[in-house]
Amino acid sequence: MTNQITIFDTTLRDGEQSPGCSMHTPEKVRMALQLERLGVDIIEAGFPIASPGDFQAVEAIAAELKTAKVAALCRAKAVDIEAAGNALKGAAHPVIHTFLASSGIHLQWKLKISPEEAIRQAVEGVKLARTFVEDVEFSAEDASRTDYAYLREMLQACFEAGAKTLNVPDTVGYSLPSEYGEMVAKLVADLPGAVVSVHCHNDLGLAVANSLAAVEAGARQVECTINGIGERAGNASLEEFAMALKVRREALGLDTGINTELLTPTSNHLSTVTGVWPQPNKAIVGRNAFAHEAGIHQHGMLANPLCYEIMTPESVGLSQSMLILGKHSGKHAVEARLKQLGVNLPSGEIMDVTKKVKELADRAKFVYDEDLLAIVEHSAEPRARLVRYQVVAGNNILPTATVEVEVEGHTRSASAVGNGPLDAALQAADAAIGLDLKLLEMHTRAVTAGKDALAEVTVRVEHDGHESLGQAASPDTIEATLKAYISAVAAAREARAAA
Ligand SMILES: [Zn+2]
Repeated sequence: MTNQITIFDTTLRDGEQSPGCSMHTPEKVRMALQLERLGVDIIEAGFPIASPGDFQAVEAIAAELKTAKVAALCRAKAVDIEAAGNALKGAAHPVIHTFLASSGIHLQWKLKISPEEAIRQAVEGVKLARTFVEDVEFSAEDASRTDYAYLREMLQACFEAGAKTLNVPDTVGYSLPSEYGEMVAKLVADLPGAVVSVHCHNDLGLAVANSLAAVEAGARQVECTINGIGERAGNASLEEFAMALKVRREALGLDTGINTELLTPTSNHLSTVTGVWPQPNKAIVGRNAFAHEAGIHQHGMLANPLCYEIMTPESVGLSQSMLILGKHSGKHAVEARLKQLGVNLPSGEIMDVTKKVKELADRAKFVYDEDLLAIVEHSAEPRARLVRYQVVAGNNILPTATVEVEVEGHTRSASAVGNGPLDAALQAADAAIGLDLKLLEMHTRAVTAGKDALAEVTVRVEHDGHESLGQAASPDTIEATLKAYISAVAAAREARAAA
């Protein structure tokens, strides 16, 4: 049996389903390219039947990826499978991932079909999927709560119908590592020739532990996500799983193709796109994952890092924030630094980023790696633009703002008063845009330390039932908020126009 574990990343499918983590197609494509650089073997790009947007995202990702396989999810239904097959037409290495529930509780209450009928539908689905692609994966949803003899029968039938990979998800995050490992060991013994895959949810905080138990028992594919995002409590975290295999190589004897030095940049990339950051104590990629606070620990670290460090920050791509660029930095310096951070941009975009680096250096003196990544994320062409704003505020006057915006070539301005400068600015923006919007969420984050740091603002708005996200970065928090808000508004208008 091979020592190599296939990493199947579902950040863009299961992960994208988590609240606050939805992404537009261009963001998904950039994330997919980052995952490919990271060394992920298979990227699950979406669920094409779910919406036209999902279909389009899978199609766009399929067209871009060269080395990683691209998977599309579908129920074991003809219309779903056809949509997946069609969305994957341009893929160099397409995979259809079809699923049907196997547990008694799902068959009886959700699908209302007999166990025999479920096997029949699963087999039909796999056969149809094979008419589109060679590489078919079948998932028995809620496998971990399924009667073993029945699960085995269903998987055997799907394997014979042409599914090379058989996935046994712990859909509800219920399994214990010992039970899950035992189930996987039996399947590996009972289904020779098949690749047993696992997909673990984190409802009891055991997703990574269950995935490790599974590979020790012979599973050779692990489904996971960056930062562990996903339905409810999320999925197994890719970075934790990959580092467990690397740090404990001697104990486990297993490898992945993950370039671990790109884990931190990839995690940052996802957080920047979604505005959702992992908790500070999150293993591997949390802000404090390598911070040694206690005096006794610091003393030990200075004497020898091995006292308290089981892996180096560099091994996960966490370099000390460095002063790297200033206003005299040219395109080549920016390009070289971006390459080191694992970001490859077309030449035209590098010019644009360089211009913004210079602008920031003018205002903030220093441009750190995090600033640079924030600039890259926000350098896409704006859908609407803040032309100028002015705010008058203080503790003894009524905060007043005037905002001028350009939407689809029309410039409009308005003034408003508010509870504070930000409220006044947003009210004025609403009046200038002329739409009634609901602000659902707003996060502000200082990208780097220091009073002159770049503020990154993420805003989520709702307009006529359409939710959208806007982001912007600026050393001026009000400016960043207005820019983020205006781009969210423009995205909501677009979503409404497309619907
Ligand atoms: Zn899942």
